[in-house]
Amino acid sequence: MQKILIVEDEEKIARFVELELRHEGYDVAKASDGRQGLELAQSGEFDLLLLDIMLPGLNGIEILRRVRKESDVPVIMLTARDAVMDKVSGLDMGADDYITKPFAIEELLARIRVTLRKRSASSETAHQVLHCRGITLDSERFKVTYNGVPIELTAKEFALLQTLMQNKNIVMSRNTLLENIWGYDYVGETNIVDVYVRYLRQKIDVKFGVKIISTVRGVGYVIKEE
Ligand code: CA
Repeated sequence: MQKILIVEDEEKIARFVELELRHEGYDVAKASDGRQGLELAQSGEFDLLLLDIMLPGLNGIEILRRVRKESDVPVIMLTARDAVMDKVSGLDMGADDYITKPFAIEELLARIRVTLRKRSASSETAHQVLHCRGITLDSERFKVTYNGVPIELTAKEFALLQTLMQNKNIVMSRNTLLENIWGYDYVGETNIVDVYVRYLRQKIDVKFGVKIISTVRGVGYVIKEE
């Protein structure tokens, strides 16, 4: 049973939402002030948090900020009508979605379903094991092998190999790789991608006498499945 925490100081709303969620088959806990809400949210036992923003003790944005330091639990913010700033800061802080009060319960239930579904879909992607050209990459266990022989990679080398394997047979430009792995705000040597491809080739191609990562001149890199 999926467990949802409601942090909401308006008792009527909280009880109504609680009843509806229980009716839908969720397990529910409630907190009516920010400090209690944070404590429960940090317990790690919830599959989703519904956070009101204006709360006594500690506001919802602050709860979200602290929760995000240690958890990526799905969060839906409950915001007052027209509180555009609240929505923006909530999404900036890593909320998955928000809903404006007063809301129709059907809309809230739909958003909860979508958010939980998205999250379980993305955790399936995150836990996938990739296979290509004798290489097996297990992203959950952070392990790479070539024909069963373990290969030690750094985090960036791992991310680069993972991206190329996820996009096998697609030529990835240096820019795309740079943005995917180092982020849009990366400042530094632009040939960093080439440097890391060289590291990977040392550890795979050179070591095992194969040619896994191909250069496409003037474009980028690709792992082609034979
Ligand atoms: Ca409130």
